[in-house]
Amino acid sequence: MPFQFLGTSGAVPSAARDNTALVFYSAEDTVLVDCSGSPYQKILKAGLDPMRVTSLIVTHRHVDHLYGIPSLAHNMGLAGRRAPLHIYALPETLPILNGFLDLFPLEEKMPYRIVLHEVPPKEGYPVLQAQGFRIQSTPVKHGAPNIGLRVEFASPQERGVVVYSGDTSPCPSLIALARGADILIHEATFLHSDAARAASDGHTTGYQAGEVATQARVKRLFLCHFEARLHDHVEDLRREARQTYSGPVEIPGEFQEYRASA
Ligand SMILES: [Zn+2]
Ligand SMILES: [Zn+2]
Repeated sequence: MPFQFLGTSGAVPSAARDNTALVFYSAEDTVLVDCSGSPYQKILKAGLDPMRVTSLIVTHRHVDHLYGIPSLAHNMGLAGRRAPLHIYALPETLPILNGFLDLFPLEEKMPYRIVLHEVPPKEGYPVLQAQGFRIQSTPVKHGAPNIGLRVEFASPQERGVVVYSGDTSPCPSLIALARGADILIHEATFLHSDAARAASDGHTTGYQAGEVATQARVKRLFLCHFEARLHDHVEDLRREARQTYSGPVEIPGEFQEYRASA
């Protein structure tokens, strides 16, 4: 316990890495962050029970972060789920989620309800309280309205703070959210030689992710959301981040269990 990557790639996946998505959990509660690929299967591959997923937080409306939702909702229904599934998203993302429900009539004949919750774009907004951890959000800087998340674990089994940047350019609100965290998971879509493209697309380079980690004084940095071209060269991203951050830099594997404490 308490978190895994269900994917680590940018918008285009490769045979080795799928679109970035995460799962945070305690013994009692499981919360998904973004939803891509075959999410039901991914939850099983993570060794978790899809029926224990209480909530899904959708960071933003870009396709690579939410296209798995119809499949997840359908699979949960066919598998006999009864408990409601709570989905949290920014106001700009909710029409897409409602569109999914209209397009596939997912709730017709479903034995459970999908409950949508609006997340206002406020700094330090308390999104949800799960058993053993709580999650806050803060707006970040991307091509679409987006949020970063701060997950605070406080249970006898797990203590620690993990912050996830979402898709973003380096931004002060995220640095504030990540202040002193045990782990900062920051996107590093590009190498710094593509810094201009990173800036125009609302992304971050490995070099910049290291700067953010240093400014936020986090204990450990995890990189993710790698563009497909870099999947065979992830060590280059790590090397860049080490130029600007002296702590440990992790290139996470998918379906590997990580602890919140540094
Ligand atoms: Zn993305
Ligand atoms: Zn995006």
